[in-house]
Amino acid sequence: MNLLTEILIFILSGLGLLFIALCMRFYLGRRRAEQIWAAARFPKLENLGTVKQLSVLPLIDDLTAKDGLSAESGVSYLVRADDTTILFDAGLNQAGEHPSPLLRNMEKLGVSVDQIDMVFISHLHLDHVGGMRYQSKRTFGLSGEVVNLVGKRAFLPTEMTHPSASVEVVTAPRIIAPGIASLGVIPRQLFFFGWTLEQSLAINVEGKGLVLVIGCGHPTVQRIVERAKQLFNLPIYGIIGGLHFPVADKPVQRYVGTDNWPWNPADKQSVESAIAALKVNQLRLMALSPHDSCTWSRAAFQQAFPGAYRDVRVGEAIEL
Ligand SMILES: [Zn+2]
Ligand SMILES: [Zn+2]
Repeated sequence: MNLLTEILIFILSGLGLLFIALCMRFYLGRRRAEQIWAAARFPKLENLGTVKQLSVLPLIDDLTAKDGLSAESGVSYLVRADDTTILFDAGLNQAGEHPSPLLRNMEKLGVSVDQIDMVFISHLHLDHVGGMRYQSKRTFGLSGEVVNLVGKRAFLPTEMTHPSASVEVVTAPRIIAPGIASLGVIPRQLFFFGWTLEQSLAINVEGKGLVLVIGCGHPTVQRIVERAKQLFNLPIYGIIGGLHFPVADKPVQRYVGTDNWPWNPADKQSVESAIAALKVNQLRLMALSPHDSCTWSRAAFQQAFPGAYRDVRVGEAIEL
């Protein structure tokens, strides 16, 4: 055996061992996530209250509504509910720029950091916390350089820190402002990205019902809706955000972000199951983020919810 063959065998053995370790981690993590979901019991969240007006302005996503705005495969939405303004997720900022695409879009849309009362991070993935550099340090950031968030509360889904914001780790569902709640984290094991805790926002709009704002939708939209129904005796009026359906034309995400075995990733059937489950709720608003759903999935949702569907596009506020 020559040296080259030996090196090749060494590399292939290493890759084989790594794959076996990933399979073990996925098998055990998925079992743990199912056990936690089955055992989760939370009391009803009484006294949620209502908001009269809700506006969700996408600041970062895959599509833009106007020229001059930056598009990124990540999520950041400005949620304005009566007197409360929440920055929901912090985008991707892949190149670590300062000012980041998020800050640049904010400026173009007339939004300043001062207007933000609190930050809400759905989950610790790079496309939601402002990039890999922040994800790896278990923090979040609005730009390549530090943006001061002194005096602002940050509701986080897992143990994370921030140099200036007042961080609060959300484990159980809780009300965070009048008419606004976190549904608490729901765990999911992803094959490559590992253990993922994701929280979503629920906003009770007066005379309408709950609007759910979702980051990536890893726990599945069915479970997120089920959690909302467990917590509140309120109709689900609408859903805005990512539901993770890269089933046809986002090949990398389809395999890398999979919550199933990599040889059996999310498929069109899973989109159809989610649509069938959501139809029971007679949604009046269904705004699907393109950052983690493909064109085919968006068309399927559009067809299934003709009066309620709209794309999520940067710079185009969804107003209720
Ligand atoms: Zn995402
Ligand atoms: Zn994610």
